[in-house]
Amino acid sequence: MSIMSRWARVAVARPVGRLLDYRCSQKLYPGQRVLVPLGNSQCTGLVLECFDSPPPTKLRAIEAHLDPVPIFDSGLCKTLAFACHWYRCDPGQLVRAALPAGLGISTMKQLIRLPEAPWPEAKSLQALESLFQGDRTVRAQDLDKKDLKALLSSGAVSCDTRITQPAPEPRIERIRATKDPEFLPKRNKSQRQLLEHLIKIGDWVAVSQLRHIKGLRRLIRLLETADALERSTQSLHEVVDHVDRIPEPTEEQAAVLDAVDLKGGFSQHLVYGVTGSGKTEVYLQLIKKVLDQGKSALVLVPEIALTPQMVSRFSARFGNQVAVFHSGLKDSERRSSWHRSLRGESRIAIGARSAVFAPCHQLGIIIVDEEHDSSYKQGENPRYHGRDLAIVRAKESDCPVVLGSATPSLETWHRAQNRRQNSQVHRLKYRATGATLPSIELIDLKSIPFQKRLPVSPPLYEAIERTLERKEQAILLLNRRGWAPLMTCLDCGFECQCPHCSVALVSHRPQRLVCHYCGFEQSPPTHCVECNSTQIGELGQGTQQLEQHLRGLFPQARVGRLDSDVGRRRGAVRGLLERFAAQEIDVVVGTQMLAKGHDLPSVTLVGVILADRGLQLPDPRGSERAFQLLTQVAGRAGRAGKPGRVLFQCFDTQHPVIQAACQHDGDGFLRWEQSRRQAMGLPPFRRAALIRCSHRDRKSAAREVQRLSRISSPGCQILGPAPSVMERHRDQWRFQFLITAERAQDLQFHLARLEDQKRPKNSGFRVVVDVDPSELM
Ligand SMILES: [Zn+2]
Ligand SMILES: [Zn+2]
Repeated sequence: MSIMSRWARVAVARPVGRLLDYRCSQKLYPGQRVLVPLGNSQCTGLVLECFDSPPPTKLRAIEAHLDPVPIFDSGLCKTLAFACHWYRCDPGQLVRAALPAGLGISTMKQLIRLPEAPWPEAKSLQALESLFQGDRTVRAQDLDKKDLKALLSSGAVSCDTRITQPAPEPRIERIRATKDPEFLPKRNKSQRQLLEHLIKIGDWVAVSQLRHIKGLRRLIRLLETADALERSTQSLHEVVDHVDRIPEPTEEQAAVLDAVDLKGGFSQHLVYGVTGSGKTEVYLQLIKKVLDQGKSALVLVPEIALTPQMVSRFSARFGNQVAVFHSGLKDSERRSSWHRSLRGESRIAIGARSAVFAPCHQLGIIIVDEEHDSSYKQGENPRYHGRDLAIVRAKESDCPVVLGSATPSLETWHRAQNRRQNSQVHRLKYRATGATLPSIELIDLKSIPFQKRLPVSPPLYEAIERTLERKEQAILLLNRRGWAPLMTCLDCGFECQCPHCSVALVSHRPQRLVCHYCGFEQSPPTHCVECNSTQIGELGQGTQQLEQHLRGLFPQARVGRLDSDVGRRRGAVRGLLERFAAQEIDVVVGTQMLAKGHDLPSVTLVGVILADRGLQLPDPRGSERAFQLLTQVAGRAGRAGKPGRVLFQCFDTQHPVIQAACQHDGDGFLRWEQSRRQAMGLPPFRRAALIRCSHRDRKSAAREVQRLSRISSPGCQILGPAPSVMERHRDQWRFQFLITAERAQDLQFHLARLEDQKRPKNSGFRVVVDVDPSELM
């Protein structure tokens, strides 16, 4: 039999912008890593497609196979291939997103002395001969470039390329309790707490999962000496079944569990449940069934650092079956999660956006929690949408996908309404605890005297006071971090702006001005650069100021703050949420980070300082985001039986978004938004791509965007061009336009034409193509 000719389509781990084809002699499978020639060097690649036919053109050959069996299954390979095509992103960047750092396998050139050849006589090379004694090899990178060249041309040594293996997987250290804490004296509080925690879990716990505990190492040592716990540093193997008690599902939850067919291949499910309706419990029980079938599960959550409770619930139920993926992990931790998923030791992968590429095999279900969350869309290259890729991966893996939300995105809701592609909507109308949804009251700021309006109007003040009297908790939302959003000259009105972007600098404490878009910082000016006046004042309020204001209003209350300034410190968000849950804080002030699915049982009051903020933004998605934020934050109130109260302070009390949020009328809002989008010819009725063009020179950027926006193709409409909302960003002037098309293939055809018209990378123009953009303007 003749040797079969084969070839493969490979995503190489370098920014070459497209998939490359190579021929191969051995049988190859999608999902295997290979070493391929690229220019004059070699690089690692991931095989995405294989063909058992003669290659269409003359191709270079694959040099080595790096994996004996595929590391990615075909469902994931097809998802990656889809993402390369649909988002028009660089396959190299996608592969890097899919493989944890250190797994991109690199190569090393090594030199070997050839025994027959004489050593060159050049003086400078004499000293090097000793390096090669006893058949030792020398790394090419350790030699001077000139010496290396001379040695190679002399023929005394030969050069080999060797594959360097990734760093070994770190061992996993786990502990478990072996004694009741009774033997400990009462004063050893932290030792007792740790031991009680371990007993509650009742099994081995990875030490890395307990990292948030203060003085953990010392506590483990003390308890180990007292024979109260066992430590092991082996790899994880055994299957841990559910550890905590499984609650009986409510009637509504049971209906969803029955309706999701785990054996029938691909289907789409929207679990549309009010806040607190127990969506997580539905996920947990579905996953249990999937594990019982011997399959694995993938769970996406938005911004995992903000939702430590979610991971804790999964760990409590499934123990070491859970592998966590998110950007806050160290490289070694991420590699460990990745290996455990790959080897099937952990059959549940849970993580933010990029976990959609987790190497799970035999997927039985994919779950996307809070599917509406904008963090699923990656804002930089590769610009993929985690939720949409999750649906693609479920389809390619032939398993159901469950999207959960209390405020579904218009895209998902629209798709579910059309009942296309085997999709269903499941409603959870009641809270699992039996609590009722909080009543929402509007405070019309127009009717309140100017001086008393903001930030805390008299009715809100009174409500906070009552809440504190009852020893309950309150959260206050103000979607602006920092001290004051504006620093202006009170004489001429000059605003302090970022020198690199077209936005106002935000005042922070301790005294400094910060650009929230590029991070530029400066100390506040002492006088106006326009009119030299020293009357410089701060206008408006941010979370820092609100926090201090509340401390003044309620000196007896313990006030905390949650925003991304706080969140920058590792573990700070978790610490704050834990202290709040332990009732060590009475009031938390914060940005939209407050609305992220936290379950805070003692919160009975939610105040929104400016509920209609953001409704005037030009982006058509602004109202959807505002509705989601208001509903989600209101949903934090009164979850555990005690009635909740929500107050929205606003100027435009009649705005349809405010009215719908007030009446918990999600369907009403979605219908209103749907007809608006249809009238505007925007997604979900048409597919869209945003093209943004930037250059250091304003005129050049404007001319270039004009040129690109004049390209036309059948079925496509162009909206714009116009300056971006932030016209200047990091010294680049930005213009943009939107391409919409009813049919996806028309949009792709247009984008391909646009690609051909793009100027080269070194031209100073930057063109960003954002398919399915999260911002429409
Ligand atoms: Zn001035
Ligand atoms: Zn800036």
